[in-house]
Amino acid sequence: MGVSYSLGIMLVPQTSDWGSNPHASTMKRTIVEFDMKALRRKSLPLKEIDDGVRTLIDDMFETVEGIGVGLSAIQVGEPVQVIVVNIENQKLALINPHLRAQSINRNKQEEGCLSLPGITKPVKRSLEVIVDYRSVDGLWEQIHATGLMARVLLHELDHLKGKLIVDY
Ligand SMILES: [Zn+2]
Repeated sequence: MGVSYSLGIMLVPQTSDWGSNPHASTMKRTIVEFDMKALRRKSLPLKEIDDGVRTLIDDMFETVEGIGVGLSAIQVGEPVQVIVVNIENQKLALINPHLRAQSINRNKQEEGCLSLPGITKPVKRSLEVIVDYRSVDGLWEQIHATGLMARVLLHELDHLKGKLIVDY
């Protein structure tokens, strides 16, 4: 199944040097669509953060740019615990993320998923979350998120467990 990008401006040359990417040239990866066997896999934690992981993260940012606000590695066929979020240019990469706490207060909002194009589903989620994760530098960090950021993190954390919006 083909992937259609709403922004067609980014067929990236391999020698791309734009942006502040310190790593190897980035490339868009193919998003896994409707392959339930692949999408249901549970992602494994990473033991080591090496160049391959850094490149994966750069590629994931590149892939999601302009078409979505979050992406999990499983959606580009890599069953490892890596999430990227790009909300209004607030870019965040989370390795081995762990949901530490979530608010009892929840709301229901319509969500879509890049791996299930054309499908939206109302999903009830916490309004506020605390997530622990390792940064690309290997340090343990913590994010306290609300609103859209909280929702996106919960959506992507679901992907790591093989859970999709159609399960709600
Ligand atoms: Zn999704």
